[in-house]
Amino acid sequence: MILEKLVQVGNPLLYQESTTIKNIKDSKTKDIIQNLIDSMRFFNMIWAAGVQIWEPKRIFITEIRKTPFRNPKDLDPLKIYINPKIIWYSKAQCILYEWCWSVANMKLFGPVKRPQKIIIEAFDENWNKFQLKADWLLSRVIQHEYDHINGIIFTQKITDIKKIMSQDEYIKNFYKQ
Ligand SMILES: [Zn+2]
Repeated sequence: MILEKLVQVGNPLLYQESTTIKNIKDSKTKDIIQNLIDSMRFFNMIWAAGVQIWEPKRIFITEIRKTPFRNPKDLDPLKIYINPKIIWYSKAQCILYEWCWSVANMKLFGPVKRPQKIIIEAFDENWNKFQLKADWLLSRVIQHEYDHINGIIFTQKITDIKKIMSQDEYIKNFYKQ
């Protein structure tokens, strides 16, 4: 089911820590997973966390789909992360622009510095534990989502407030030169 309206910045829900999922097999968890997938694709996001669809549980999904702009090597199929834990961060860091549907409906872009690579441990939709090493865009998306389940929004981590851009300016600056 597509959620018509996602949680927006200013709502206290976005600042609270999400709770652990105890039972993966119940229909409630299955509903959350399906609603996350449907809403993410509908709103053209490449990630979505439970809290954004009004379910503050420790779950998020990623799916880095093809766009006219996206580097093909960054593409990554749908993944579901339940009760995730980032267990390793690289010392190397990088600054990339981030955005979020929960911040002005994805219209605000800002530079954020984070570790370039991470290793995450989580359960998938079949309750199988997995470990994943991620780099660049996938690593960035995972860290952004991991912040969501810990009640943190990317705007709190913007490295230079003067470099904030609207969506239009971001596209103009980075893709239409
Ligand atoms: Zn977000």
